[in-house]
Amino acid sequence: MDIQAFVTFVRGLYDAAPGTFVPLHAPTFAGNEKKYVVDCIDTTYVSSVGAYVTRFEEMLAAFTGANHVVAIGNGTMALHLALKLSGVEPGELVVTQPLTFVATANAIAYCGAEPAFVDVDRDTMGLSPVALRAFLTRECKTEKGRCTHTASGRRVAAIVPMHTFGLPARIDEISALCTEFGIPLVEDAAESLGSFVGKKHTGLSGCIGTLSFNGNKTITTGGGGALLIGDPALAKRAKHLSTTAKVPHKWEFFHDEVAYNYRLPNLNAALGCAQMERLPEMLASKRVISETYQQFFAAQKISFVAERSGTTSNYWLNAIALSSRAERDAFLAATNEAGVMTRPIWTLMTKLPMFAHCVRAATPNAEWLEDRVVNIPSSPREG
Ligand SMILES: *Cc1c(COP(=O)(O)O)cnc(C)c1O
Repeated sequence: MDIQAFVTFVRGLYDAAPGTFVPLHAPTFAGNEKKYVVDCIDTTYVSSVGAYVTRFEEMLAAFTGANHVVAIGNGTMALHLALKLSGVEPGELVVTQPLTFVATANAIAYCGAEPAFVDVDRDTMGLSPVALRAFLTRECKTEKGRCTHTASGRRVAAIVPMHTFGLPARIDEISALCTEFGIPLVEDAAESLGSFVGKKHTGLSGCIGTLSFNGNKTITTGGGGALLIGDPALAKRAKHLSTTAKVPHKWEFFHDEVAYNYRLPNLNAALGCAQMERLPEMLASKRVISETYQQFFAAQKISFVAERSGTTSNYWLNAIALSSRAERDAFLAATNEAGVMTRPIWTLMTKLPMFAHCVRAATPNAEWLEDRVVNIPSSPREG
């Protein structure tokens, strides 16, 4: 492709003069962010108690349609807690995709469990229901509602698909398989706030969905995350485990199990409330940017990874698939050299030293995507 034309196009898109740097995804604070953060300082409520935490949870529940939302310190903690709450125990297996950010696999390891890697679909870049069914029927056996990986004898304790770059995975099909095989579904929706399958927000199809509000995500709280939970008893337990399992009392310290300090501070939630007020406008801006890119790449005959029909992507990070690893490498070198930030998709989890020995199925689609996919500047435009 014509890389110089791409660089010029991106500079035009972001009104960036030659010589200035165009980031992959920069946060914008054009609303009440400063006001709410200053309010925390003025009232001294900067830590894990404060009105903004509750307000942020309510705003997330209203936007996503989740019955219950529990704000958490970051997306990785949220995933760890979600797996714990789903009953994942040391020594068990958790099925996930090899093409994801490392936090998905790390959270599984934090439970003392191990990831088992199953391929993704090429179009969604998320867990493939066809590959998942093949794994569960050929590599596992299900007896008395318990699904066990045959070769290792380990229980398959949960399934964790991820909505890559905000593009919804085939979650209805995955959810149906989870029900059929009696395995809890935890959705890593860290990248997909504002992404829907039909009218249903991502993260609501299983027992728990997790979000991230890291600095590079669609909205940011500095660092932050959340659990989306349907069941009220599970939500109560999530809050309990995220607050050191302290039994509420006016002054006594009594904790009824080993638990975590995973709550989101009020300062971060304040930032989150202001960002949530602007989420619809940020999503609209990201959609315009994505459509503009799609026209540009259609003319260049480059494959742009677009949302499937019937789904809505937040277009968190726009992605294109180049023709080979060599073309990918040339593109990354030339664009970054020109001050337009681009990044390759992640190195597959199956190639990282700590997960290289894990159970895995064949992953041709993940390998194909790993060689070709790059992300291009995707920040929302202000105003
Ligand atoms: C960002 C991200 C996380 C982790 O979120 P943090 O808030 O950075 O801990 C987990 N999974 C995926 C897929 C992510 O992109």
